Amino acid sequence: MKMVTFRDVALRPSAITQIYPSKIQTLFECELHVAFSQDMEFDWGKRGSFGTMFGEVRHKILERVENKEIFRTGFSEQEFESVWTEAITTEYKKLCDQWSDREVPWYENVKRYELHKADLEAECEAECEAADTPLIEERPSERSREGRMSRVSLDSIGSRRSNGNDNSSPESKFLGPEKQLKDEGNKIKGKVDLIRVLNDGSYWIVDYKSGFNENDIPESYRKQLLLYGYLLYEETGVEPGRLSLKDRKGKIVDIDFSLEDLVALKDDLVLKREKFNQKISSGEANFNPNPSPHNCRYCSYQIVCSSYWEALDDEWGHSSIAGEIIKDSNGREIINITSPTDSSIPGQPLPKLTPIHNRENHNNYVYMTGISIRKDQLKLNWDTISRFSAQS
Ligand code: SF4
Repeated sequence: MKMVTFRDVALRPSAITQIYPSKIQTLFECELHVAFSQDMEFDWGKRGSFGTMFGEVRHKILERVENKEIFRTGFSEQEFESVWTEAITTEYKKLCDQWSDREVPWYENVKRYELHKADLEAECEAECEAADTPLIEERPSERSREGRMSRVSLDSIGSRRSNGNDNSSPESKFLGPEKQLKDEGNKIKGKVDLIRVLNDGSYWIVDYKSGFNENDIPESYRKQLLLYGYLLYEETGVEPGRLSLKDRKGKIVDIDFSLEDLVALKDDLVLKREKFNQKISSGEANFNPNPSPHNCRYCSYQIVCSSYWEALDDEWGHSSIAGEIIKDSNGREIINITSPTDSSIPGQPLPKLTPIHNRENHNNYVYMTGISIRKDQLKLNWDTISRFSAQS
């Protein structure tokens, strides 16, 4: 097993130019994470995973369903099989290219492969059943009262800010799947999963997520939706009527918001970008870490982040361990694991490490993320090992 110990990291991030809704949570959650992601030396942290692969497959297929490129005569299992195979093969190849230094496990052997496939098949079937529904939806509060949808003239909404040179109709410009929206003045842009129009003429934005707890929607999901809402408002001059998340089981949850929320979020983001960029231009390399069980859980930079290791607690439930390299009585080097996450092994306090720019004796330690412990065996994920080797 190849493992790599800490080394001093001098971050040299570039300034943030464009803001993307899908990336904004890091701007709010951890400045150090942003600094890592803006430093080319740490580009290995941006490589995909099986989670992102399944997400891409779902987005691509649902986009084709919405565009009526597939299932034109209705849903069929046979067509789904062929569409799925085409999409998963393409995305798997992309993943393999990103991880060309590693052998990526075959996608059918991935945990929950069949579940991802079955969920998407059910979602496609449901979308096809609703295929005759026009891109007009009732407001949720009116759904039970009216029990049916009503049409409005699309001429009454849409490109109020159009300069007259755009011949596309409001429907073709803004409605449907995967629409690119932008605020050029503030350099913010992003692709919305789906836009429909409500019967009062306002827009409904739907963002696909693989899953969420409707009683505890992550703040990052909410902010992402608000920013999409702001972008649509900026482009059309029409305040969104509804912002929703949709999970892969088809569950739809609405997010409360006001126009002030949308604009305030945009202002906050622009300010955060300015502050970050000022640090870079002034040569200040002190980017604030904000370790927490939530912020760090899926952070690719855990392994090189000493703030993470300093803050990590067994109660976080992360699959990460740290250990010290010591010599046994025969003079052989062994790893003395000091922070097991397996509750069957008595836990010991994590080694408290020195800050990232001022470390000493770090070569005496090893750090591992994405591990599992079964009986007396330590297992590392294939992509975790790659991250180690990328740092060797
Ligand atoms: S591991 Fe945590 S503290 Fe470190 S950069 Fe990532 S999110 Fe920030």
